[in-house]
Amino acid sequence: MALEEVHSKGKIQWPGDARVAVFLSFDFQGGEDVRPDKNGKLNHEEYTQAEYGPKTGIWRILRILASHEVKATFLTCGGIAERYPEPVAAIVAQGHEVAGHGYHHEVARDLSKEEERDVIKRTTEIILSRGKKRPVGWRSCTQSPNSLELLLEQGYLWNSNSFSYDLPFIWQSGKKKLVELPRQPFGDGRTYGHRDSGNPNDTLTVWKGMFDQFYEE
Ligand SMILES: [Zn+2]
Repeated sequence: MALEEVHSKGKIQWPGDARVAVFLSFDFQGGEDVRPDKNGKLNHEEYTQAEYGPKTGIWRILRILASHEVKATFLTCGGIAERYPEPVAAIVAQGHEVAGHGYHHEVARDLSKEEERDVIKRTTEIILSRGKKRPVGWRSCTQSPNSLELLLEQGYLWNSNSFSYDLPFIWQSGKKKLVELPRQPFGDGRTYGHRDSGNPNDTLTVWKGMFDQFYEE
């Protein structure tokens, strides 16, 4: 299936004529990406750091978002929805979006087409069963050449895996469309929060710098 990129060429109008739109998204994956060492043993320290998110951090994030009346998107692994039904239901109940992020944080490019289709299907089902709302957005751990086609096939509306642009664009195949919400690595655990690295001051500097630049443009 040939997919064509369709760009707005700067002609996007945001609600309320806002100059800048901010897409606040959290990868909600807990320890789903923590794999056992070569000897088959799980690193307890690494795993429990990762599990701080679904056990503790999520409730703080929800409280902070509520106090600022900000809505966000949580890219949630199927395994997290399976093991932590309460926070996933709370995210939806508080008006945020739950999108998909693999079942066990699979590296999508390592999966066969059949395996990836199954991962998307199972993740969609478990998130739907927890939040009573079907996910329509997806972010893979490294997209595969099949990801976009499989997402279109399974009725998804948006994908968020490209780092190549500032503004959203559309993947089009005949009448089928998938919106791409580009992301940048500055929030992806590289400034703050990837386990024990980074600090909030650096994050504020990077995010504020980006915002000011986009606002200026
Ligand atoms: Zn992830």
